[in-house]
Amino acid sequence: MNHQPFETWLLADKILNAAEKRELDSHLRICRSCSALAETGLALRSAKASSPTAGFALRFQHRLAVQKVAERRRRLWGLIVLIVSGVSLLGWFAAPVVYAFISAPVEWLTAVVGYFLFVFTSMQAFSEILRVLARMAPNFIPPYAWMVMLSTLAGMGLIWVVSIWRFAHKPQGVTV
Ligand SMILES: [Zn+2]
Repeated sequence: MNHQPFETWLLADKILNAAEKRELDSHLRICRSCSALAETGLALRSAKASSPTAGFALRFQHRLAVQKVAERRRRLWGLIVLIVSGVSLLGWFAAPVVYAFISAPVEWLTAVVGYFLFVFTSMQAFSEILRVLARMAPNFIPPYAWMVMLSTLAGMGLIWVVSIWRFAHKPQGVTV
């Protein structure tokens, strides 16, 4: 069977006039392969017609990408805001010290050195006071108090010595 020119028309998706269309229809009625080809062409055309779905998918992907970029940008801005607020908060607390240092570095250093000197000298003074008190104590404490203290110390010493003696002799298994 001669399929031309119908096969060419179908493959090229040719726009047919009324006479051509009539010829093709009569051929398709008797030719199985050309009618199959015509059906395939129709299916392809309908697939092409349904291409908006592909376009929609593409638009959807695009929107998703845009959303992703926006999300990333939002996260970046969040990070920036967090850093800026943290730095400014730190600056708020550090500002007086920094301002003092910038406005008068020499005075600031003097104040710091003076503080350390103050700590050092007060510690020295405290130890001096303790030494003086230790030297003056015997004159203030009455004699009977010294006797009580000495006897207490002696008693404690005796207990200590006895404990040591008992501890030292226990391993030998001495029974009383
Ligand atoms: Zn045919």
